Amino acid sequence: MKNLLELKEINKTFKIKGTSDSTILENINLHVKEGEFLAVLGPSGSGKSTLLRIIAGLIPSSSGTVSYLGKKIKGVNPGVAMVFQSFALFPWLTVLENVMLGLERKKISVEYKREKSMQVLDIVGLDGFENAYPKELSGGMRQRVGIGRALVSEPDILLMDEAFSALDVLTAENLRRDLLELWLDKKIPTKSIVLITHGIEEAVYMADRAIILSSGPATIIKNIDISLPRWRDRKSPEFLSYVDEIYSIMTKKKIPMTEMLVQTKKDLIIPSVSAGALTGFLELLEDLNEKIDLYKLADRFLMDMEDFLPLIEASALLHFTKVTEGDIELTEHGVEFARATVLERKKLFRQQLLEHIPFVQKMINILRSKSNKQMNIEFFEELQSQTFGEEIGQKQLDLLIGWERYAELIEYDDNKEIVYLEQSV
Ligand code: ADP
Ligand code: MG
Repeated sequence: MKNLLELKEINKTFKIKGTSDSTILENINLHVKEGEFLAVLGPSGSGKSTLLRIIAGLIPSSSGTVSYLGKKIKGVNPGVAMVFQSFALFPWLTVLENVMLGLERKKISVEYKREKSMQVLDIVGLDGFENAYPKELSGGMRQRVGIGRALVSEPDILLMDEAFSALDVLTAENLRRDLLELWLDKKIPTKSIVLITHGIEEAVYMADRAIILSSGPATIIKNIDISLPRWRDRKSPEFLSYVDEIYSIMTKKKIPMTEMLVQTKKDLIIPSVSAGALTGFLELLEDLNEKIDLYKLADRFLMDMEDFLPLIEASALLHFTKVTEGDIELTEHGVEFARATVLERKKLFRQQLLEHIPFVQKMINILRSKSNKQMNIEFFEELQSQTFGEEIGQKQLDLLIGWERYAELIEYDDNKEIVYLEQSV
């Protein structure tokens, strides 16, 4: 099949007044074939929306080219239309008028625009709602309007920016199915679809191919063909193995969890998590009472993977959990902790801290060796700054002191800026 769209060596740098330039996209090479459904995955803030806007010609790239049907694009790309996460409807326009906006640039009569828009409303399941206003519609129906507005111009390529992310689970699933059906059964002339998403399952369910972006700046780190017949069964082993594969690529690139644990023990970076949050997280895992896929864990609580990562990392660091290839489970210590009383928990936490965080051992040894069992905080700040630099060192120390206080290893006097060894230690 021929290439509909081709990106060559796309770079994007934003120049922000008063700060240094920041490069968001680096050397992106990408093509979209006719008949293809491409998913673009990547951490939030990595530049997915920026990439889509460049494809649509809504913003220029800093260098590189976008071609549609072999021709370089200058300005708006005539072959694409966009669907947004936020629906982006005009509240003062009716459903029909919002859809007609998709034909704004076409030189056709208003009557014909109206007629075409009515047809599209029928196709996207909004027959009878043409005179309603967006505020009268549910989220799912609003996004149907958003999709209708994109489809009405009969684009070769439909660009979707997290188009299902703002919808509740069931609504999103319905809309995904409906859209896939329209496309697979050729009820719409759209040839190819590019879907930006941070949902791994969504990508594996819908796409023929997925690319995974890294962040800071975004480069394509992996291209995966998803060769599963449709319709796809989310519970089949083949489906799950794609999900696992993508999952482990994404998390490894973001935080090399296991590497970090083995290699750099003495310069550990402590994830920014309070003892209280960690406790809650371990209770939650204990409640689930099973080994669970990390992405499912996030899905289950409607959270982004990224919100969970510090908790996962901190719990693994203290050996309360074990993470292997995308699965997380409580260790024996973790189970014990989750089931323990408040006092027992403090004791267990203390054990794990002393055993697995070398800097905690160091602090305690220093305090023990002093006859008055105290030390000014500056001393420890200095030690941390030497390893991590001043700013991160300070943060790391704050976190550790929080954990040590919870574990009743030390006490800290804010005013005097003095750290004391707890009497029982
Ligand atoms: P994603 O869609 O993957 O979450 P975006 O493409 O929205 O990421 O943004 C990527 C990065 O580019 C972010 O750090 C964002 O702050 C930055 N960015 C996006 N648009 C602009 C802009 N117009 N000016 C400066 N920085 C921007
Ligand atoms: Mg985005």
